Amino acid sequence: MSNRTLELTDALYEYLLDHSLRETEVMRMLRAETARLPNAKMQIAPEQGQFMALLVRLMGARRALEVGVFTGYSALAVAQALPEDGALLACDVSETYTAIARKYWDAAGVAQKIDLRLAPALETLDALLRDGRDGSFDFAFIDADKPNYDAYYERALRLLRPGGLVCLDNTLWGGKVVDPDPDDANARYLRALNDKLHRDDRIDLSLLPLADGLTLALKR
Ligand code: CA
Repeated sequence: MSNRTLELTDALYEYLLDHSLRETEVMRMLRAETARLPNAKMQIAPEQGQFMALLVRLMGARRALEVGVFTGYSALAVAQALPEDGALLACDVSETYTAIARKYWDAAGVAQKIDLRLAPALETLDALLRDGRDGSFDFAFIDADKPNYDAYYERALRLLRPGGLVCLDNTLWGGKVVDPDPDDANARYLRALNDKLHRDDRIDLSLLPLADGLTLALKR
């Protein structure tokens, strides 16, 4: 028994997956195709996708936002959890990676729920704010370039309704947030953001040791 988070051995992680993961065939195929890419580590862990899908259902979210699509696994997990008339606005800059994403969104029958915007995400988010979309989203997932995380977070917070949730990926950054390499600028950005979130009284907060660290920030 332990009242601190367990260190996951390979065997325990396998057990966790074997006893909780419920991936569809399409999700498995998307993960397999992505695993062959040089940037495969940019894909979220499958149990993380399932957890975010559960959050989306728990909240009854209808309008979701994603910053950083890559090959579309997290968007697929979230879109599947949205109701039929729900919508996920997904931001990315890569045509190559999102072409893979679209193929699997089609195969899963959720493509009609996903509005993919191929442009720098700050431009897309700022356009949403100019269009008066403040407070109109229920859920946001940020998993993109780390130097812009704070800027994405600030915009996502404005776009969420009170009680809306923003999830930020990689907030433990492979453990390097506690042992920063001076050459690792991303570790510095994430440390600064984690410090800010800890003090941020606009949100309720939880930093989960799930995958590479997942921060949940619930807008007050
Ligand atoms: Ca990530």
